[in-house]
Amino acid sequence: MEKEIARLKNVQAELEATQQQLKDNLKMRQHIMDFSLDVICTIDKEGRLLQVSAASEKVWGYPATELVGRSYMEMVHPDDRVKTQQTAAAIMSGQATQDFHNRYLRQDGSTVEMEWTAFWEEENEIMFCVARDESARKQTEDVQQTLREELTRSNADLEQFAYAASHDLQEPLRAVSGVVQILQRRYSGQLDERADELIQHAVDGVSRMQTLINDLLAYSRVETRGGEMQPTDCEAVLRNVLLHLETVIDESGAKVTSDALPTVPADAGQLDQVFQNLISNAIKYRSERAPEIYVGAEHSDGEWIFSVRDNGIGIDPEYFKRIFVLFQRLHTRTEYAGTGIGLALCKKIVERHKGRIWVESEQGRGATFYFTVASL
Ligand code: ADP
Repeated sequence: MEKEIARLKNVQAELEATQQQLKDNLKMRQHIMDFSLDVICTIDKEGRLLQVSAASEKVWGYPATELVGRSYMEMVHPDDRVKTQQTAAAIMSGQATQDFHNRYLRQDGSTVEMEWTAFWEEENEIMFCVARDESARKQTEDVQQTLREELTRSNADLEQFAYAASHDLQEPLRAVSGVVQILQRRYSGQLDERADELIQHAVDGVSRMQTLINDLLAYSRVETRGGEMQPTDCEAVLRNVLLHLETVIDESGAKVTSDALPTVPADAGQLDQVFQNLISNAIKYRSERAPEIYVGAEHSDGEWIFSVRDNGIGIDPEYFKRIFVLFQRLHTRTEYAGTGIGLALCKKIVERHKGRIWVESEQGRGATFYFTVASL
């Protein structure tokens, strides 16, 4: 008898525990229904809504009391009813569904796009569904797309403007340049010292402006005047660049060495500009030591990583991003001549080749510029 009582007590305790668990589960389910940001609903086999989460009111724009008992199909956008019917039939036959998209008409007539996951609960004969309002995400995507298009358009406008302005400025500048050069040739040493100084200022100013205009023209032509991508022998490109820079190399006592360079699909003229800018910077931003420059090439994951390493003044990591922006310089004109266009031009060219460009350096310890080009 005592044993029996003990057993019954045990059964009662188990029953109470199960009841408590059931209560907890129901509470949890209610919390989910009340606080979920998503639509959660159950639908019977006639297509009537049985339960709806609180968020459903906001997404569908009907009070919960009007949603429960309503046929969900009435709210589906007429153009999406056929595919919704087909998907619902598939779910009822036991296929779980993910990533199903359709549109609903709210009470106020507006449309909401939704993404669904759903499955059929055989024992209760209900469809359990969770859905998300896709309109907000789509709207953000649309805004991003519009912004991207605007940016591309405004970049193209800017390029066109830079091209037109620099091209049209060349002509009058050539005239001014001619005149100041004649002035210098004919009158230097014949007027007073101040006059000589002023003429020299004019000559320098005109020459700076010509460099600036040429650099801007080169920058604005990267996309519009780019040549075809063709197998390009980088050894030949480097030889050409070194020939071009012969005078500065000799004057600075620079030593340039390199790996064996590959042939890559590229616009040879533009690749020439990249090497020329990086190598002439390596010479320009030298320390007291004679420049030692190493041009490397390493193959990795379907691309070539080129590098131009120097032993110059180096760059503070704080400026690694800034130096690739148009007109951004870290020095005044009196310290180092320049327009601040070189690296921005390199970046634009490398990006036209679908590559990346970056720098590694420590102030006072030289710099290494890297860029990638797809391999053949
Ligand atoms: P510019 O040389 O006309 O100023 P760039 O766009 O070529 O313009 O370079 C931007 C800035 O990056 C330079 O002003 C310089 O401060 C820095 N820089 C570029 N190359 C090097 C280098 N090899 N070593 C140190 N600093 C460099």
